[in-house]
Amino acid sequence: MRGSMFEKLTNGFCHDIIMLEYFSKSIYKVCYGNGANMKHPAERLSEINRLAVLRSISGRQTFTKMDVVREAHLSLPTVNGILAALETECYVVPNGNGESRGGRPPALYRFNPVARYAIGIKVDSPTIAIGLVDLQANLHRVVEYPFDDDSTSEYIEATLTQGILDILAEQKIEPAKMIGLGIGVPGYFERDTGTWLGYLPLRSFKQIPLRDLFSKKFGVPVYVQHASNIYTFAEIQKSPLRLRDDVLFITCTEGVKASVVVDGQILSGDHGNFGRLGHFTVVEHGRTCYCGMKGCLEMYASGRSIREEIKAKLLQIDGIADLNDPALPYRVFQLAAEGNEICRRLVEGAIPYMAYAFATLINLTDIGHLVLLGAYAEGGTYVADLLRHDILQRVPKIAGVQLFVRAGNRLTKEDFVISAAMPAIQTHLGFRSAISF
Ligand SMILES: [Zn+2]
Repeated sequence: MRGSMFEKLTNGFCHDIIMLEYFSKSIYKVCYGNGANMKHPAERLSEINRLAVLRSISGRQTFTKMDVVREAHLSLPTVNGILAALETECYVVPNGNGESRGGRPPALYRFNPVARYAIGIKVDSPTIAIGLVDLQANLHRVVEYPFDDDSTSEYIEATLTQGILDILAEQKIEPAKMIGLGIGVPGYFERDTGTWLGYLPLRSFKQIPLRDLFSKKFGVPVYVQHASNIYTFAEIQKSPLRLRDDVLFITCTEGVKASVVVDGQILSGDHGNFGRLGHFTVVEHGRTCYCGMKGCLEMYASGRSIREEIKAKLLQIDGIADLNDPALPYRVFQLAAEGNEICRRLVEGAIPYMAYAFATLINLTDIGHLVLLGAYAEGGTYVADLLRHDILQRVPKIAGVQLFVRAGNRLTKEDFVISAAMPAIQTHLGFRSAISF
């Protein structure tokens, strides 16, 4: 069965004009690469045609050759040749005959989603999650390993390598069936090279050339992205949002980061940090931040700051025993929404800082649709309404009319690894990826 995520990213997408434009660019990349692997024009054309067929069949339950001819705008002999090759490669499986319309009943085929797999990885507190995802975005397996501020580069690299090998071995998948790796990391990475430059809270960290390292190890393309963009991508799949909507997603985990979606693209920036809201100054000469600056939003309204405040004030909260529990910030927002007095004071103390930073982002981007993710999402309408009220004081009246603030879905590790794997799957099937690389 195809998943809803896949449906949204194929049917909802492939008729989009922007997609066509992007598609020609991605084809250029596929065919030309960086210029070193220049292909002969005939080879380029056959690659383009093959992707057109894959795109046409990958979201369908069953299809006939004529369906592909019509949708991919190719001749019957071309489609015959490509489908025969795809059948040999196990992408296409014969599926009996269709209904006769007078003549011979047409042969039916179906797309085989388990012909190939992608690996999706989320590296962010409190875990490294690694998932095996098929070509129709079905998750076959997910495993987790600890990740915290003491995780070293060596540990992360070894965990990713062994985790991928283990999952392939356990699921009896030949490495040749893996088509790509998507990795979401916090902090900064170099967009051009896919090198993870750092994440400030990690106490011992050296750069990891994620793209180079893992593309050499596994012989597949590697897509490095910011972890927050994975959360945003997962939310888009779960919500009624159209990918074309312009939306600001603000994720609170230990830190805070915004993801900005414009015209269906999750913007990246040079270091994957477009929407780096956590280190926006909300208090001049305020509390010293781990980034070296003072008065950053993360010092007042993040998972980290809420934990620190509970510790510093020795607050006793029913239902919260372990102050180092990664779920603590989520629980505080949830309890606040349920009416817990102490948690309400904590959350309401953070709201003015959030409103100040978010209003600035709204004013800068002219996007008035705000979705709260992570710990903020647990606050539900209670937090969304308070925030909306405070933001309205800080945006021009005319912009405030269309201000829409809501809490997003509760996202799981399963959602994250599927999202992380999607760029690899989409590119393999000739679709546009929503994340800019
Ligand atoms: Zn900072």
